[in-house]
Amino acid sequence: MRALQIYVFSGMNVLFIVAFFLFGLVFGSFLNVCIYRMPRQLSVVRPRSACPACGTPIAPYDNIPVVSWVLLGGKCRHCKAAISPRYATVELVTGIFFVISYLVAGPTLEAAKLCVLAFLLIGLIFTDAETKLLPDLLTKPGMVLGLMFSLFVPLEGPAQFLLRHVDNWRVLSLVNSLAGMLVGSAFILGIALLYEAIRGVEGMGRGDVKLMGLIGAFLGIKLTLLVLLLGSLIGSFFGVALIVFVWRKRLARRRSRNAAESGSEARKRAWQSAILIYRNFEIPFGVFLGSAALLAAFAGDPLVHWYLQFYQ
Ligand SMILES: [Zn+2]
Repeated sequence: MRALQIYVFSGMNVLFIVAFFLFGLVFGSFLNVCIYRMPRQLSVVRPRSACPACGTPIAPYDNIPVVSWVLLGGKCRHCKAAISPRYATVELVTGIFFVISYLVAGPTLEAAKLCVLAFLLIGLIFTDAETKLLPDLLTKPGMVLGLMFSLFVPLEGPAQFLLRHVDNWRVLSLVNSLAGMLVGSAFILGIALLYEAIRGVEGMGRGDVKLMGLIGAFLGIKLTLLVLLLGSLIGSFFGVALIVFVWRKRLARRRSRNAAESGSEARKRAWQSAILIYRNFEIPFGVFLGSAALLAAFAGDPLVHWYLQFYQ
């Protein structure tokens, strides 16, 4: 099991850290283009970026990751329309995850794999949060990339035990990646079909199925199970927080409008409307699964290790 190993600082390391950070900023900048254009079925290559409000093409000096957004005060230079803080956030987060990839794996192919995974997940998390969509253009190539990386970065899994006569690690690693992909996507597909059978409406989209396929292909079965566990924990926490938040707001409103209503009646009514809002809220599962996958990819092994120690 690979423990989280942080590479010691030296002159060479600082150079690598800066390089990974700058690459992350540039890739994050490209992600912003993907997040805006992919759900709108627009090309991510052409034309050049323009202000969505006034249509003025964005000059190269106004397109520097993070820096331009800060210098322009989050506004278009021409029409002064607000530019979402999401642009600078995505760039910064991608830069930070690229640096962590290097700190965790050193200047290796494994670091490249972690960078690619972080890139895809950050893109999918923010697209899902903004548009409730998980574009095929990110999930499908992502699954293929996950399988391909397994040929160069060994992935642990059940193949070592099930295929004892095979001594080619690349074959075993690929089988583990395929197994992770199948387990991840089959689990979500199962839940989606069950939910549709019971409630009669689509709960989880097919995008979530492909997202978990991608995560499984990159991380293998063990960490995929951890992602499903963490994802449902984060989702439940979010659900409870949402209900409590709406309940408190509704309760305050009822009390200010209708002073004669009894406290218990007001609480009951506010609770009913909070549950109703929660039921109609389209839960962004991709955000939770993607965040859980980032956590599992970078801290999964220490996390599993920490958890298992309570059972020894
Ligand atoms: Zn503008």
